[in-house]
Amino acid sequence: MKVTIVNTLILKNPSQNDINQAADLLKEGKLVVFPTETVYGLGASALDETAAARIYAAKGRPSDNPLIIHLADAEDAGKYAEISPCYEKLASLFMPGPLTVVLPKKACIPFSVTGGLDTVAVRVPSHPIAHKLLLAAGIPIAAPSANRSGRPSCTTVDHVIEDMSGKVDAILDGGESDLGLESTILLPRGDNEVVLLRPGAITIEMLTENGFTVSLDKAVTEKPKDNEKPLAPGMKYRHYAPKASLILLDGTFTAVSDFMKLSPSDPSVAFLCYDEQKNDMMQKKAIFLGSYSDSRSQAHNLFDALRKLDQDASITTVYAPLPSKEHIGLALYNRLLKAAGYTVKSL
Ligand code: AMP
Ligand code: MG
Repeated sequence: MKVTIVNTLILKNPSQNDINQAADLLKEGKLVVFPTETVYGLGASALDETAAARIYAAKGRPSDNPLIIHLADAEDAGKYAEISPCYEKLASLFMPGPLTVVLPKKACIPFSVTGGLDTVAVRVPSHPIAHKLLLAAGIPIAAPSANRSGRPSCTTVDHVIEDMSGKVDAILDGGESDLGLESTILLPRGDNEVVLLRPGAITIEMLTENGFTVSLDKAVTEKPKDNEKPLAPGMKYRHYAPKASLILLDGTFTAVSDFMKLSPSDPSVAFLCYDEQKNDMMQKKAIFLGSYSDSRSQAHNLFDALRKLDQDASITTVYAPLPSKEHIGLALYNRLLKAAGYTVKSL
């Protein structure tokens, strides 16, 4: 489907009136980008096949990559999906918040939203603008990340304008995304058993502390083979990759910082670094993600850093540390591994 929007309405610090206007656009089958606590979402009515098709067209997204539906309230899920005790427990612990749960879908959700699957992914965002928009619209909103397919997700309105200006009807500007990485996606397997399809800010540690047994879909940490279908279809696509070749450095903090420090200054080489390395990297092209011990800041800054690398055409190689797999580190590890096309150099 060709996308033919000429003027994109940009609503900064949106008032309730602005939000109502955006909700009306959604009810008319139009596209609205809105902020969430994870990343910006590109929304359309999840009950309207044509509206959903417009999302795929605006993003250039493959039609077998399903959309997450966003709800104002965790209890609304029963209208659109078969809920279970596992869902109810997850919802009481982590919703609203950065968690998506895959459930058997009900007939009202079109297959075009679920990429042909008989399941639907459900999330209840906590961001106040997202929540008000969902309340005002009164319908479930299908919303993948608002980036063009293959690019890093949008964590600022500048990213959204770069990717979606002229392709969507309105953008609600809510400033920088708090978390900066997409939601955790879980597939329930039993009352207290889940498969982690995509890591995010709701971590394995948080789930196990609350009595869940968690297994990891191998697409989170390994490159899917050509004939393999990951449980979350989106995990098989190239994603986040900067134009330059990204190489992840697997080693201790000291080994990684020594490697970067001793690399010759070269305008074609850039580094993603920790704040602690600032004094060593003065003569080099370096982007600082945050303190070594502050994975939250690293997550917040990662996608902006990947986009900045693309603004300097002279950069052909980028080195970045391979994060630890603990807590939110696993989400960083997963996104960086995909961005690097699984290229890791052991130190
Ligand atoms: P995005 O909204 O861009 O963050 O991408 C949504 C992610 O959710 C993709 O990786 C999808 O494959 C995944 N997803 C959405 N719906 C389902 C579903 N029914 N089953 C498994 N994964 C899903
Ligand atoms: Mg996405």
